[in-house]
Order: sequence, then C-alpha cells, then structure tokens
Amino acid sequence: MHYAYRFRLKPTAKQRELLDYKRDTCRQLYNHALTEFNEISQSAGTLTQRVRQVRGQLTDLKDWWNELNDLYSTVAQAAVMRIAKNIKALGELKKRYNVGSLNWKAPRDFRSFTYVQSGFEFDKKNGQTVLSLSKLADIPIECHRQVPDEESVKELTLKKEPTGEWYAFFAVDDKEEPPKPSLVEIDADDMVGIDVGILKYIHDTDGTAVGSPDLSEERNRIEREQRNLSRKEYGSNNWEKQRQRVAECHQRIKRKRRDFLYKLSNYYAREYDLVTVEDLNVKGMLESPGNSRNTASAAWNIFTDLLEYKCKREGTHFVEVDPEDTTKECASCGVKTGKPLWVREHSCPACEFEADRDANAAWNILSRGLTDLGVGHSEGTSPGIADFWCANESRSDSSPPVETALAVGTTVVPAKRVHQTPSGGLSDAV
Ligand SMILES: [Zn+2]
Repeated sequence: MHYAYRFRLKPTAKQRELLDYKRDTCRQLYNHALTEFNEISQSAGTLTQRVRQVRGQLTDLKDWWNELNDLYSTVAQAAVMRIAKNIKALGELKKRYNVGSLNWKAPRDFRSFTYVQSGFEFDKKNGQTVLSLSKLADIPIECHRQVPDEESVKELTLKKEPTGEWYAFFAVDDKEEPPKPSLVEIDADDMVGIDVGILKYIHDTDGTAVGSPDLSEERNRIEREQRNLSRKEYGSNNWEKQRQRVAECHQRIKRKRRDFLYKLSNYYAREYDLVTVEDLNVKGMLESPGNSRNTASAAWNIFTDLLEYKCKREGTHFVEVDPEDTTKECASCGVKTGKPLWVREHSCPACEFEADRDANAAWNILSRGLTDLGVGHSEGTSPGIADFWCANESRSDSSPPVETALAVGTTVVPAKRVHQTPSGGLSDAV
C-alpha cells in the first residue's frame, strides 16, 4: 500500500525556470521514446519488456542529445517508463470509450516528472527546510508537517498544477500498522457511531454535528471568472491569463473540500478507539433517489475511505455496518417507526425515547458495529445506549457546548473533545 505525502514547493524564479526546463526535457524524451516504442513489433515481448527496450537506448541517446545529461538518471528512466503506465491506463479507457493510441504530449499535458528511489533529500538552508534535488536545485518547501523518512520514499513526483504552483508528492511504503486496542478494554467514551447524511454532513453519538463546507462563494467566483473567460479571444494572452484564474478557482474549491474531509477523518481516527459508520455503498442505493444517488454516495465514500485509512494508521477499530433502517429503528428499544426525511426528531411510540433523528441513527450504527464485532450485549438491540445517553446529558449539563465556526449548518461540538485533541480538533476544520 502506498501513501503520498504532498508538499508545496516555494521555488525561486530561477528554480522555477529550471523545473520547467527539466519538465520539458522529460516531455521531449517521452515523445521521442513513444516514437521508438511504436517501431517495436508487439511480438517482441510484453508491454513492459518493450518499454524497457526503449529505456535501454538512453545511454546512446545521451551521446547526441545533450539536454538528457542534465536529467538525473532515474528521472529520465521514469519518463520513458511512463509509456507503459499510460498504455495500461489507455487500455482501461478503451474498454469504455472509442479512443485511439497514445499521442505526443503537448507542454500543457505534461505536468510532472519523477525521481525513483534516490536523487533527493531533505535539508536545511538558511533555517529553511529545502528539498535537495540532484541535478536540479535546493528548493524551499512549505512544511506543515513532518517530512517523510527518505529511506521509506519510493518515488518523488514533482508536479506543476494548472495554476502554476509546484508540488512534491512522496510515495512511501506504509509503515506497519499500529496495533489496535483490545476490544473489551475500550471505554464507552472512546467509541463513536457516525451517521453520514444529506442535510448534515455527519452526526455522531457524542452529539457532534457538522454541516457540509460552504462553497457557495467559491462557486459564484468560478461562474464569474468563467464568464470573463468566454469574453476573451480564444488563445490570446488575456485568455490564457484568465484560464489560469479559472483553474485557480477550481483548485481552491478542491482544496477546501479535501481539507474538510481530511480534518474530519483525522479527528475521528485520533480521538476514538472504535469508529462505526454505515456501509455507504448500500446506503446510497437505499436513500437517494435518481441522480443525486451517485453524487451523494461518491462524496460519502471519499469520507469513509479516508476514515478507514486514517483509522488503520492510528490503530483505531473501523467498522462498516448494514445501514438498513438505522433511521427507523429506536436506539433504545429496537421498535421500528417510519419517518420521512423532514421529521427531524425521533420519538418512540413504544418506549418514549426521544432524540434527534440523526443521533438516534448514530446510536444504532454504533450498536450494530459492536454487535458485528461480537462485543454487543446479547439482549436488546442497543448495547450501552443508556451509557451514551447519560454521558451525553451530563456532559451538556456540566459543560456548555462550544459553537464552532466549522461551516454553515454546523452546531455543537462537545467542548471536552475539542479541547482534548492534541493536534487541532474539529475547531480548526476548514
Ligand atoms: Zn423505543
């Protein structure tokens, strides 16, 4: 399993030029190699073997192609090997669309180049962390988190985004997974059930509710910039400048959404020892009608995939449960009562248990998770509900909930949780 650390580079103007020069040399090499590759008959070997055959010509190429000597050896090799990757990707596309063969890459389509295993290290220069790249430069990087251990880095890819910004991606082998705590020793306090929904992004058994990030401002801006773009003469300098501006807007929205999901999943994986969510593949099918189904379940899946991943890294149990009737079922007695989406309260006719609709669902999700793990109580459908209920009530009595500026529709995050998070809890999300 691979994990990519991502850092923003802060190249000087001169370094930026160098990066572009290397990128373009790689592009030209790629295009040349593609022509050579197409000369080789398919019967000459497997795809990888044929691409390697082209890679084998690199030494001879360098005799007459001086610029290639400016590339670090694995960078040149990786540029050639990219043909194999692209052909495999093309094969996948061909199954679905009628696409032809690989084409030469224009400058705009060739955005990255890759160091394999070596040729890079982290260093300090004038008190600033730099990424020291062989045959390139010592480029300052923006360092928000610990840099990966160079030994564990398999590949380093330098990529220029359409906005003009450069990023470094480090593909590292996953550390061994940290051990998870024994199930029987986990406190009720350290377990959480999360309901992922349409109206609220999530609602959990600790009373934390978070809305979707508000992206309306960003969307308006994109619309505005897009309109501007359509007024410019296609291909002109002004058009190109405006195109970059549009790309920046898209980038910003993407970043905001990703940050939100990262922080949310980090929060749960770090704060709890056991996290339960619904199996959203199933939930998407059950709940969302028509077109919204795909959109909603795609967004949820990104969240749960991230969450599962972070839980693995933090040594937190992660369980996905059957979502059927989590909203209808009473978390206290198990009796099912149907309610349309607009009914926001759960009020049980059988046992008179009352709760927020999503909180009730979250408790059902948690108790199903415990049952799936074999640690649930045997009688009733809601092991530990009383504990959670009481804990929750006493908590809100003693400590007033904290209003956070998470996003629109955001409400209460229990103060206890936020303040105890060592490395920034929910309060600094988005
Ligand atoms: Zn009930």
